[in-house]
Amino acid sequence: MDGGRTPTPPPVLILLGPPGAGKGTQARMLEQQYGMVQLSTGDLLRAAVVAGTRAGRRARAVMEAGDLVSDEIVIAILRDRLAHADCSKGVILDGFPRTTAQAEALDVLLHASGQRINAAISLEVADTAMVKRISGRFTCGGCGEGYHDTFKPTAKPDVCDKCGSTEMKRRADDNAETVAQRLSAYHAQTASLIDYYEDAGALTRIDAMGAIDQIASDVSAVVSAAVAADTTA
Ligand code: AMP
Repeated sequence: MDGGRTPTPPPVLILLGPPGAGKGTQARMLEQQYGMVQLSTGDLLRAAVVAGTRAGRRARAVMEAGDLVSDEIVIAILRDRLAHADCSKGVILDGFPRTTAQAEALDVLLHASGQRINAAISLEVADTAMVKRISGRFTCGGCGEGYHDTFKPTAKPDVCDKCGSTEMKRRADDNAETVAQRLSAYHAQTASLIDYYEDAGALTRIDAMGAIDQIASDVSAVVSAAVAADTTA
């Protein structure tokens, strides 16, 4: 015995919540605060669609309809991404898992690498607010900063506050019709994961209807406690 401590495995956070709950916004803030890496399966799938990969070609129409892409495709994409070196800083999962099969596959993947879920945070919002939140949002094509026509406009019209880019992007699936289908897919296939992580003792619920900074401070308190518990264990 050398008395040395086993190194703490990289932390894993999960952000749960319906489309428009603010998972991406909070993930980006956590990324800056904790140096962890945001893994958004939506972003990975959109990149696969643009690149025209086999997975992207299969996912495209499903995403445009607001339905869930198959577990097989999404799990394969996430597994590949988790193998990248930057994930050794810890990961914030944004939009994954979305089904019980994905949650179980994640448990297996993490077990194999000696990791565990440090915290699963459910961002709690009212469905009625989601259509307005989603239909007004856009992101900077330069740095990825997220904005909203009403809740978080740019200081100068169509100029990014952070990087000055004038290339603003709106997602094709951020329209009222597709949002309704995405919310319905969330309730049918994803909402039950709140119970899954509650049963695992990993869940914290956070009221995500208020100001972004208040939500960020509530999320950060949960993450600090979860990461600290690991390093003092
Ligand atoms: P998001 O950017 O998280 O809102 O995801 C956009 C779209 O990508 C969703 O409406 C789904 O079609 C697809 N998608 C993203 N993540 C997943 C996932 N974990 N499982 C299945 N489909 C997903």
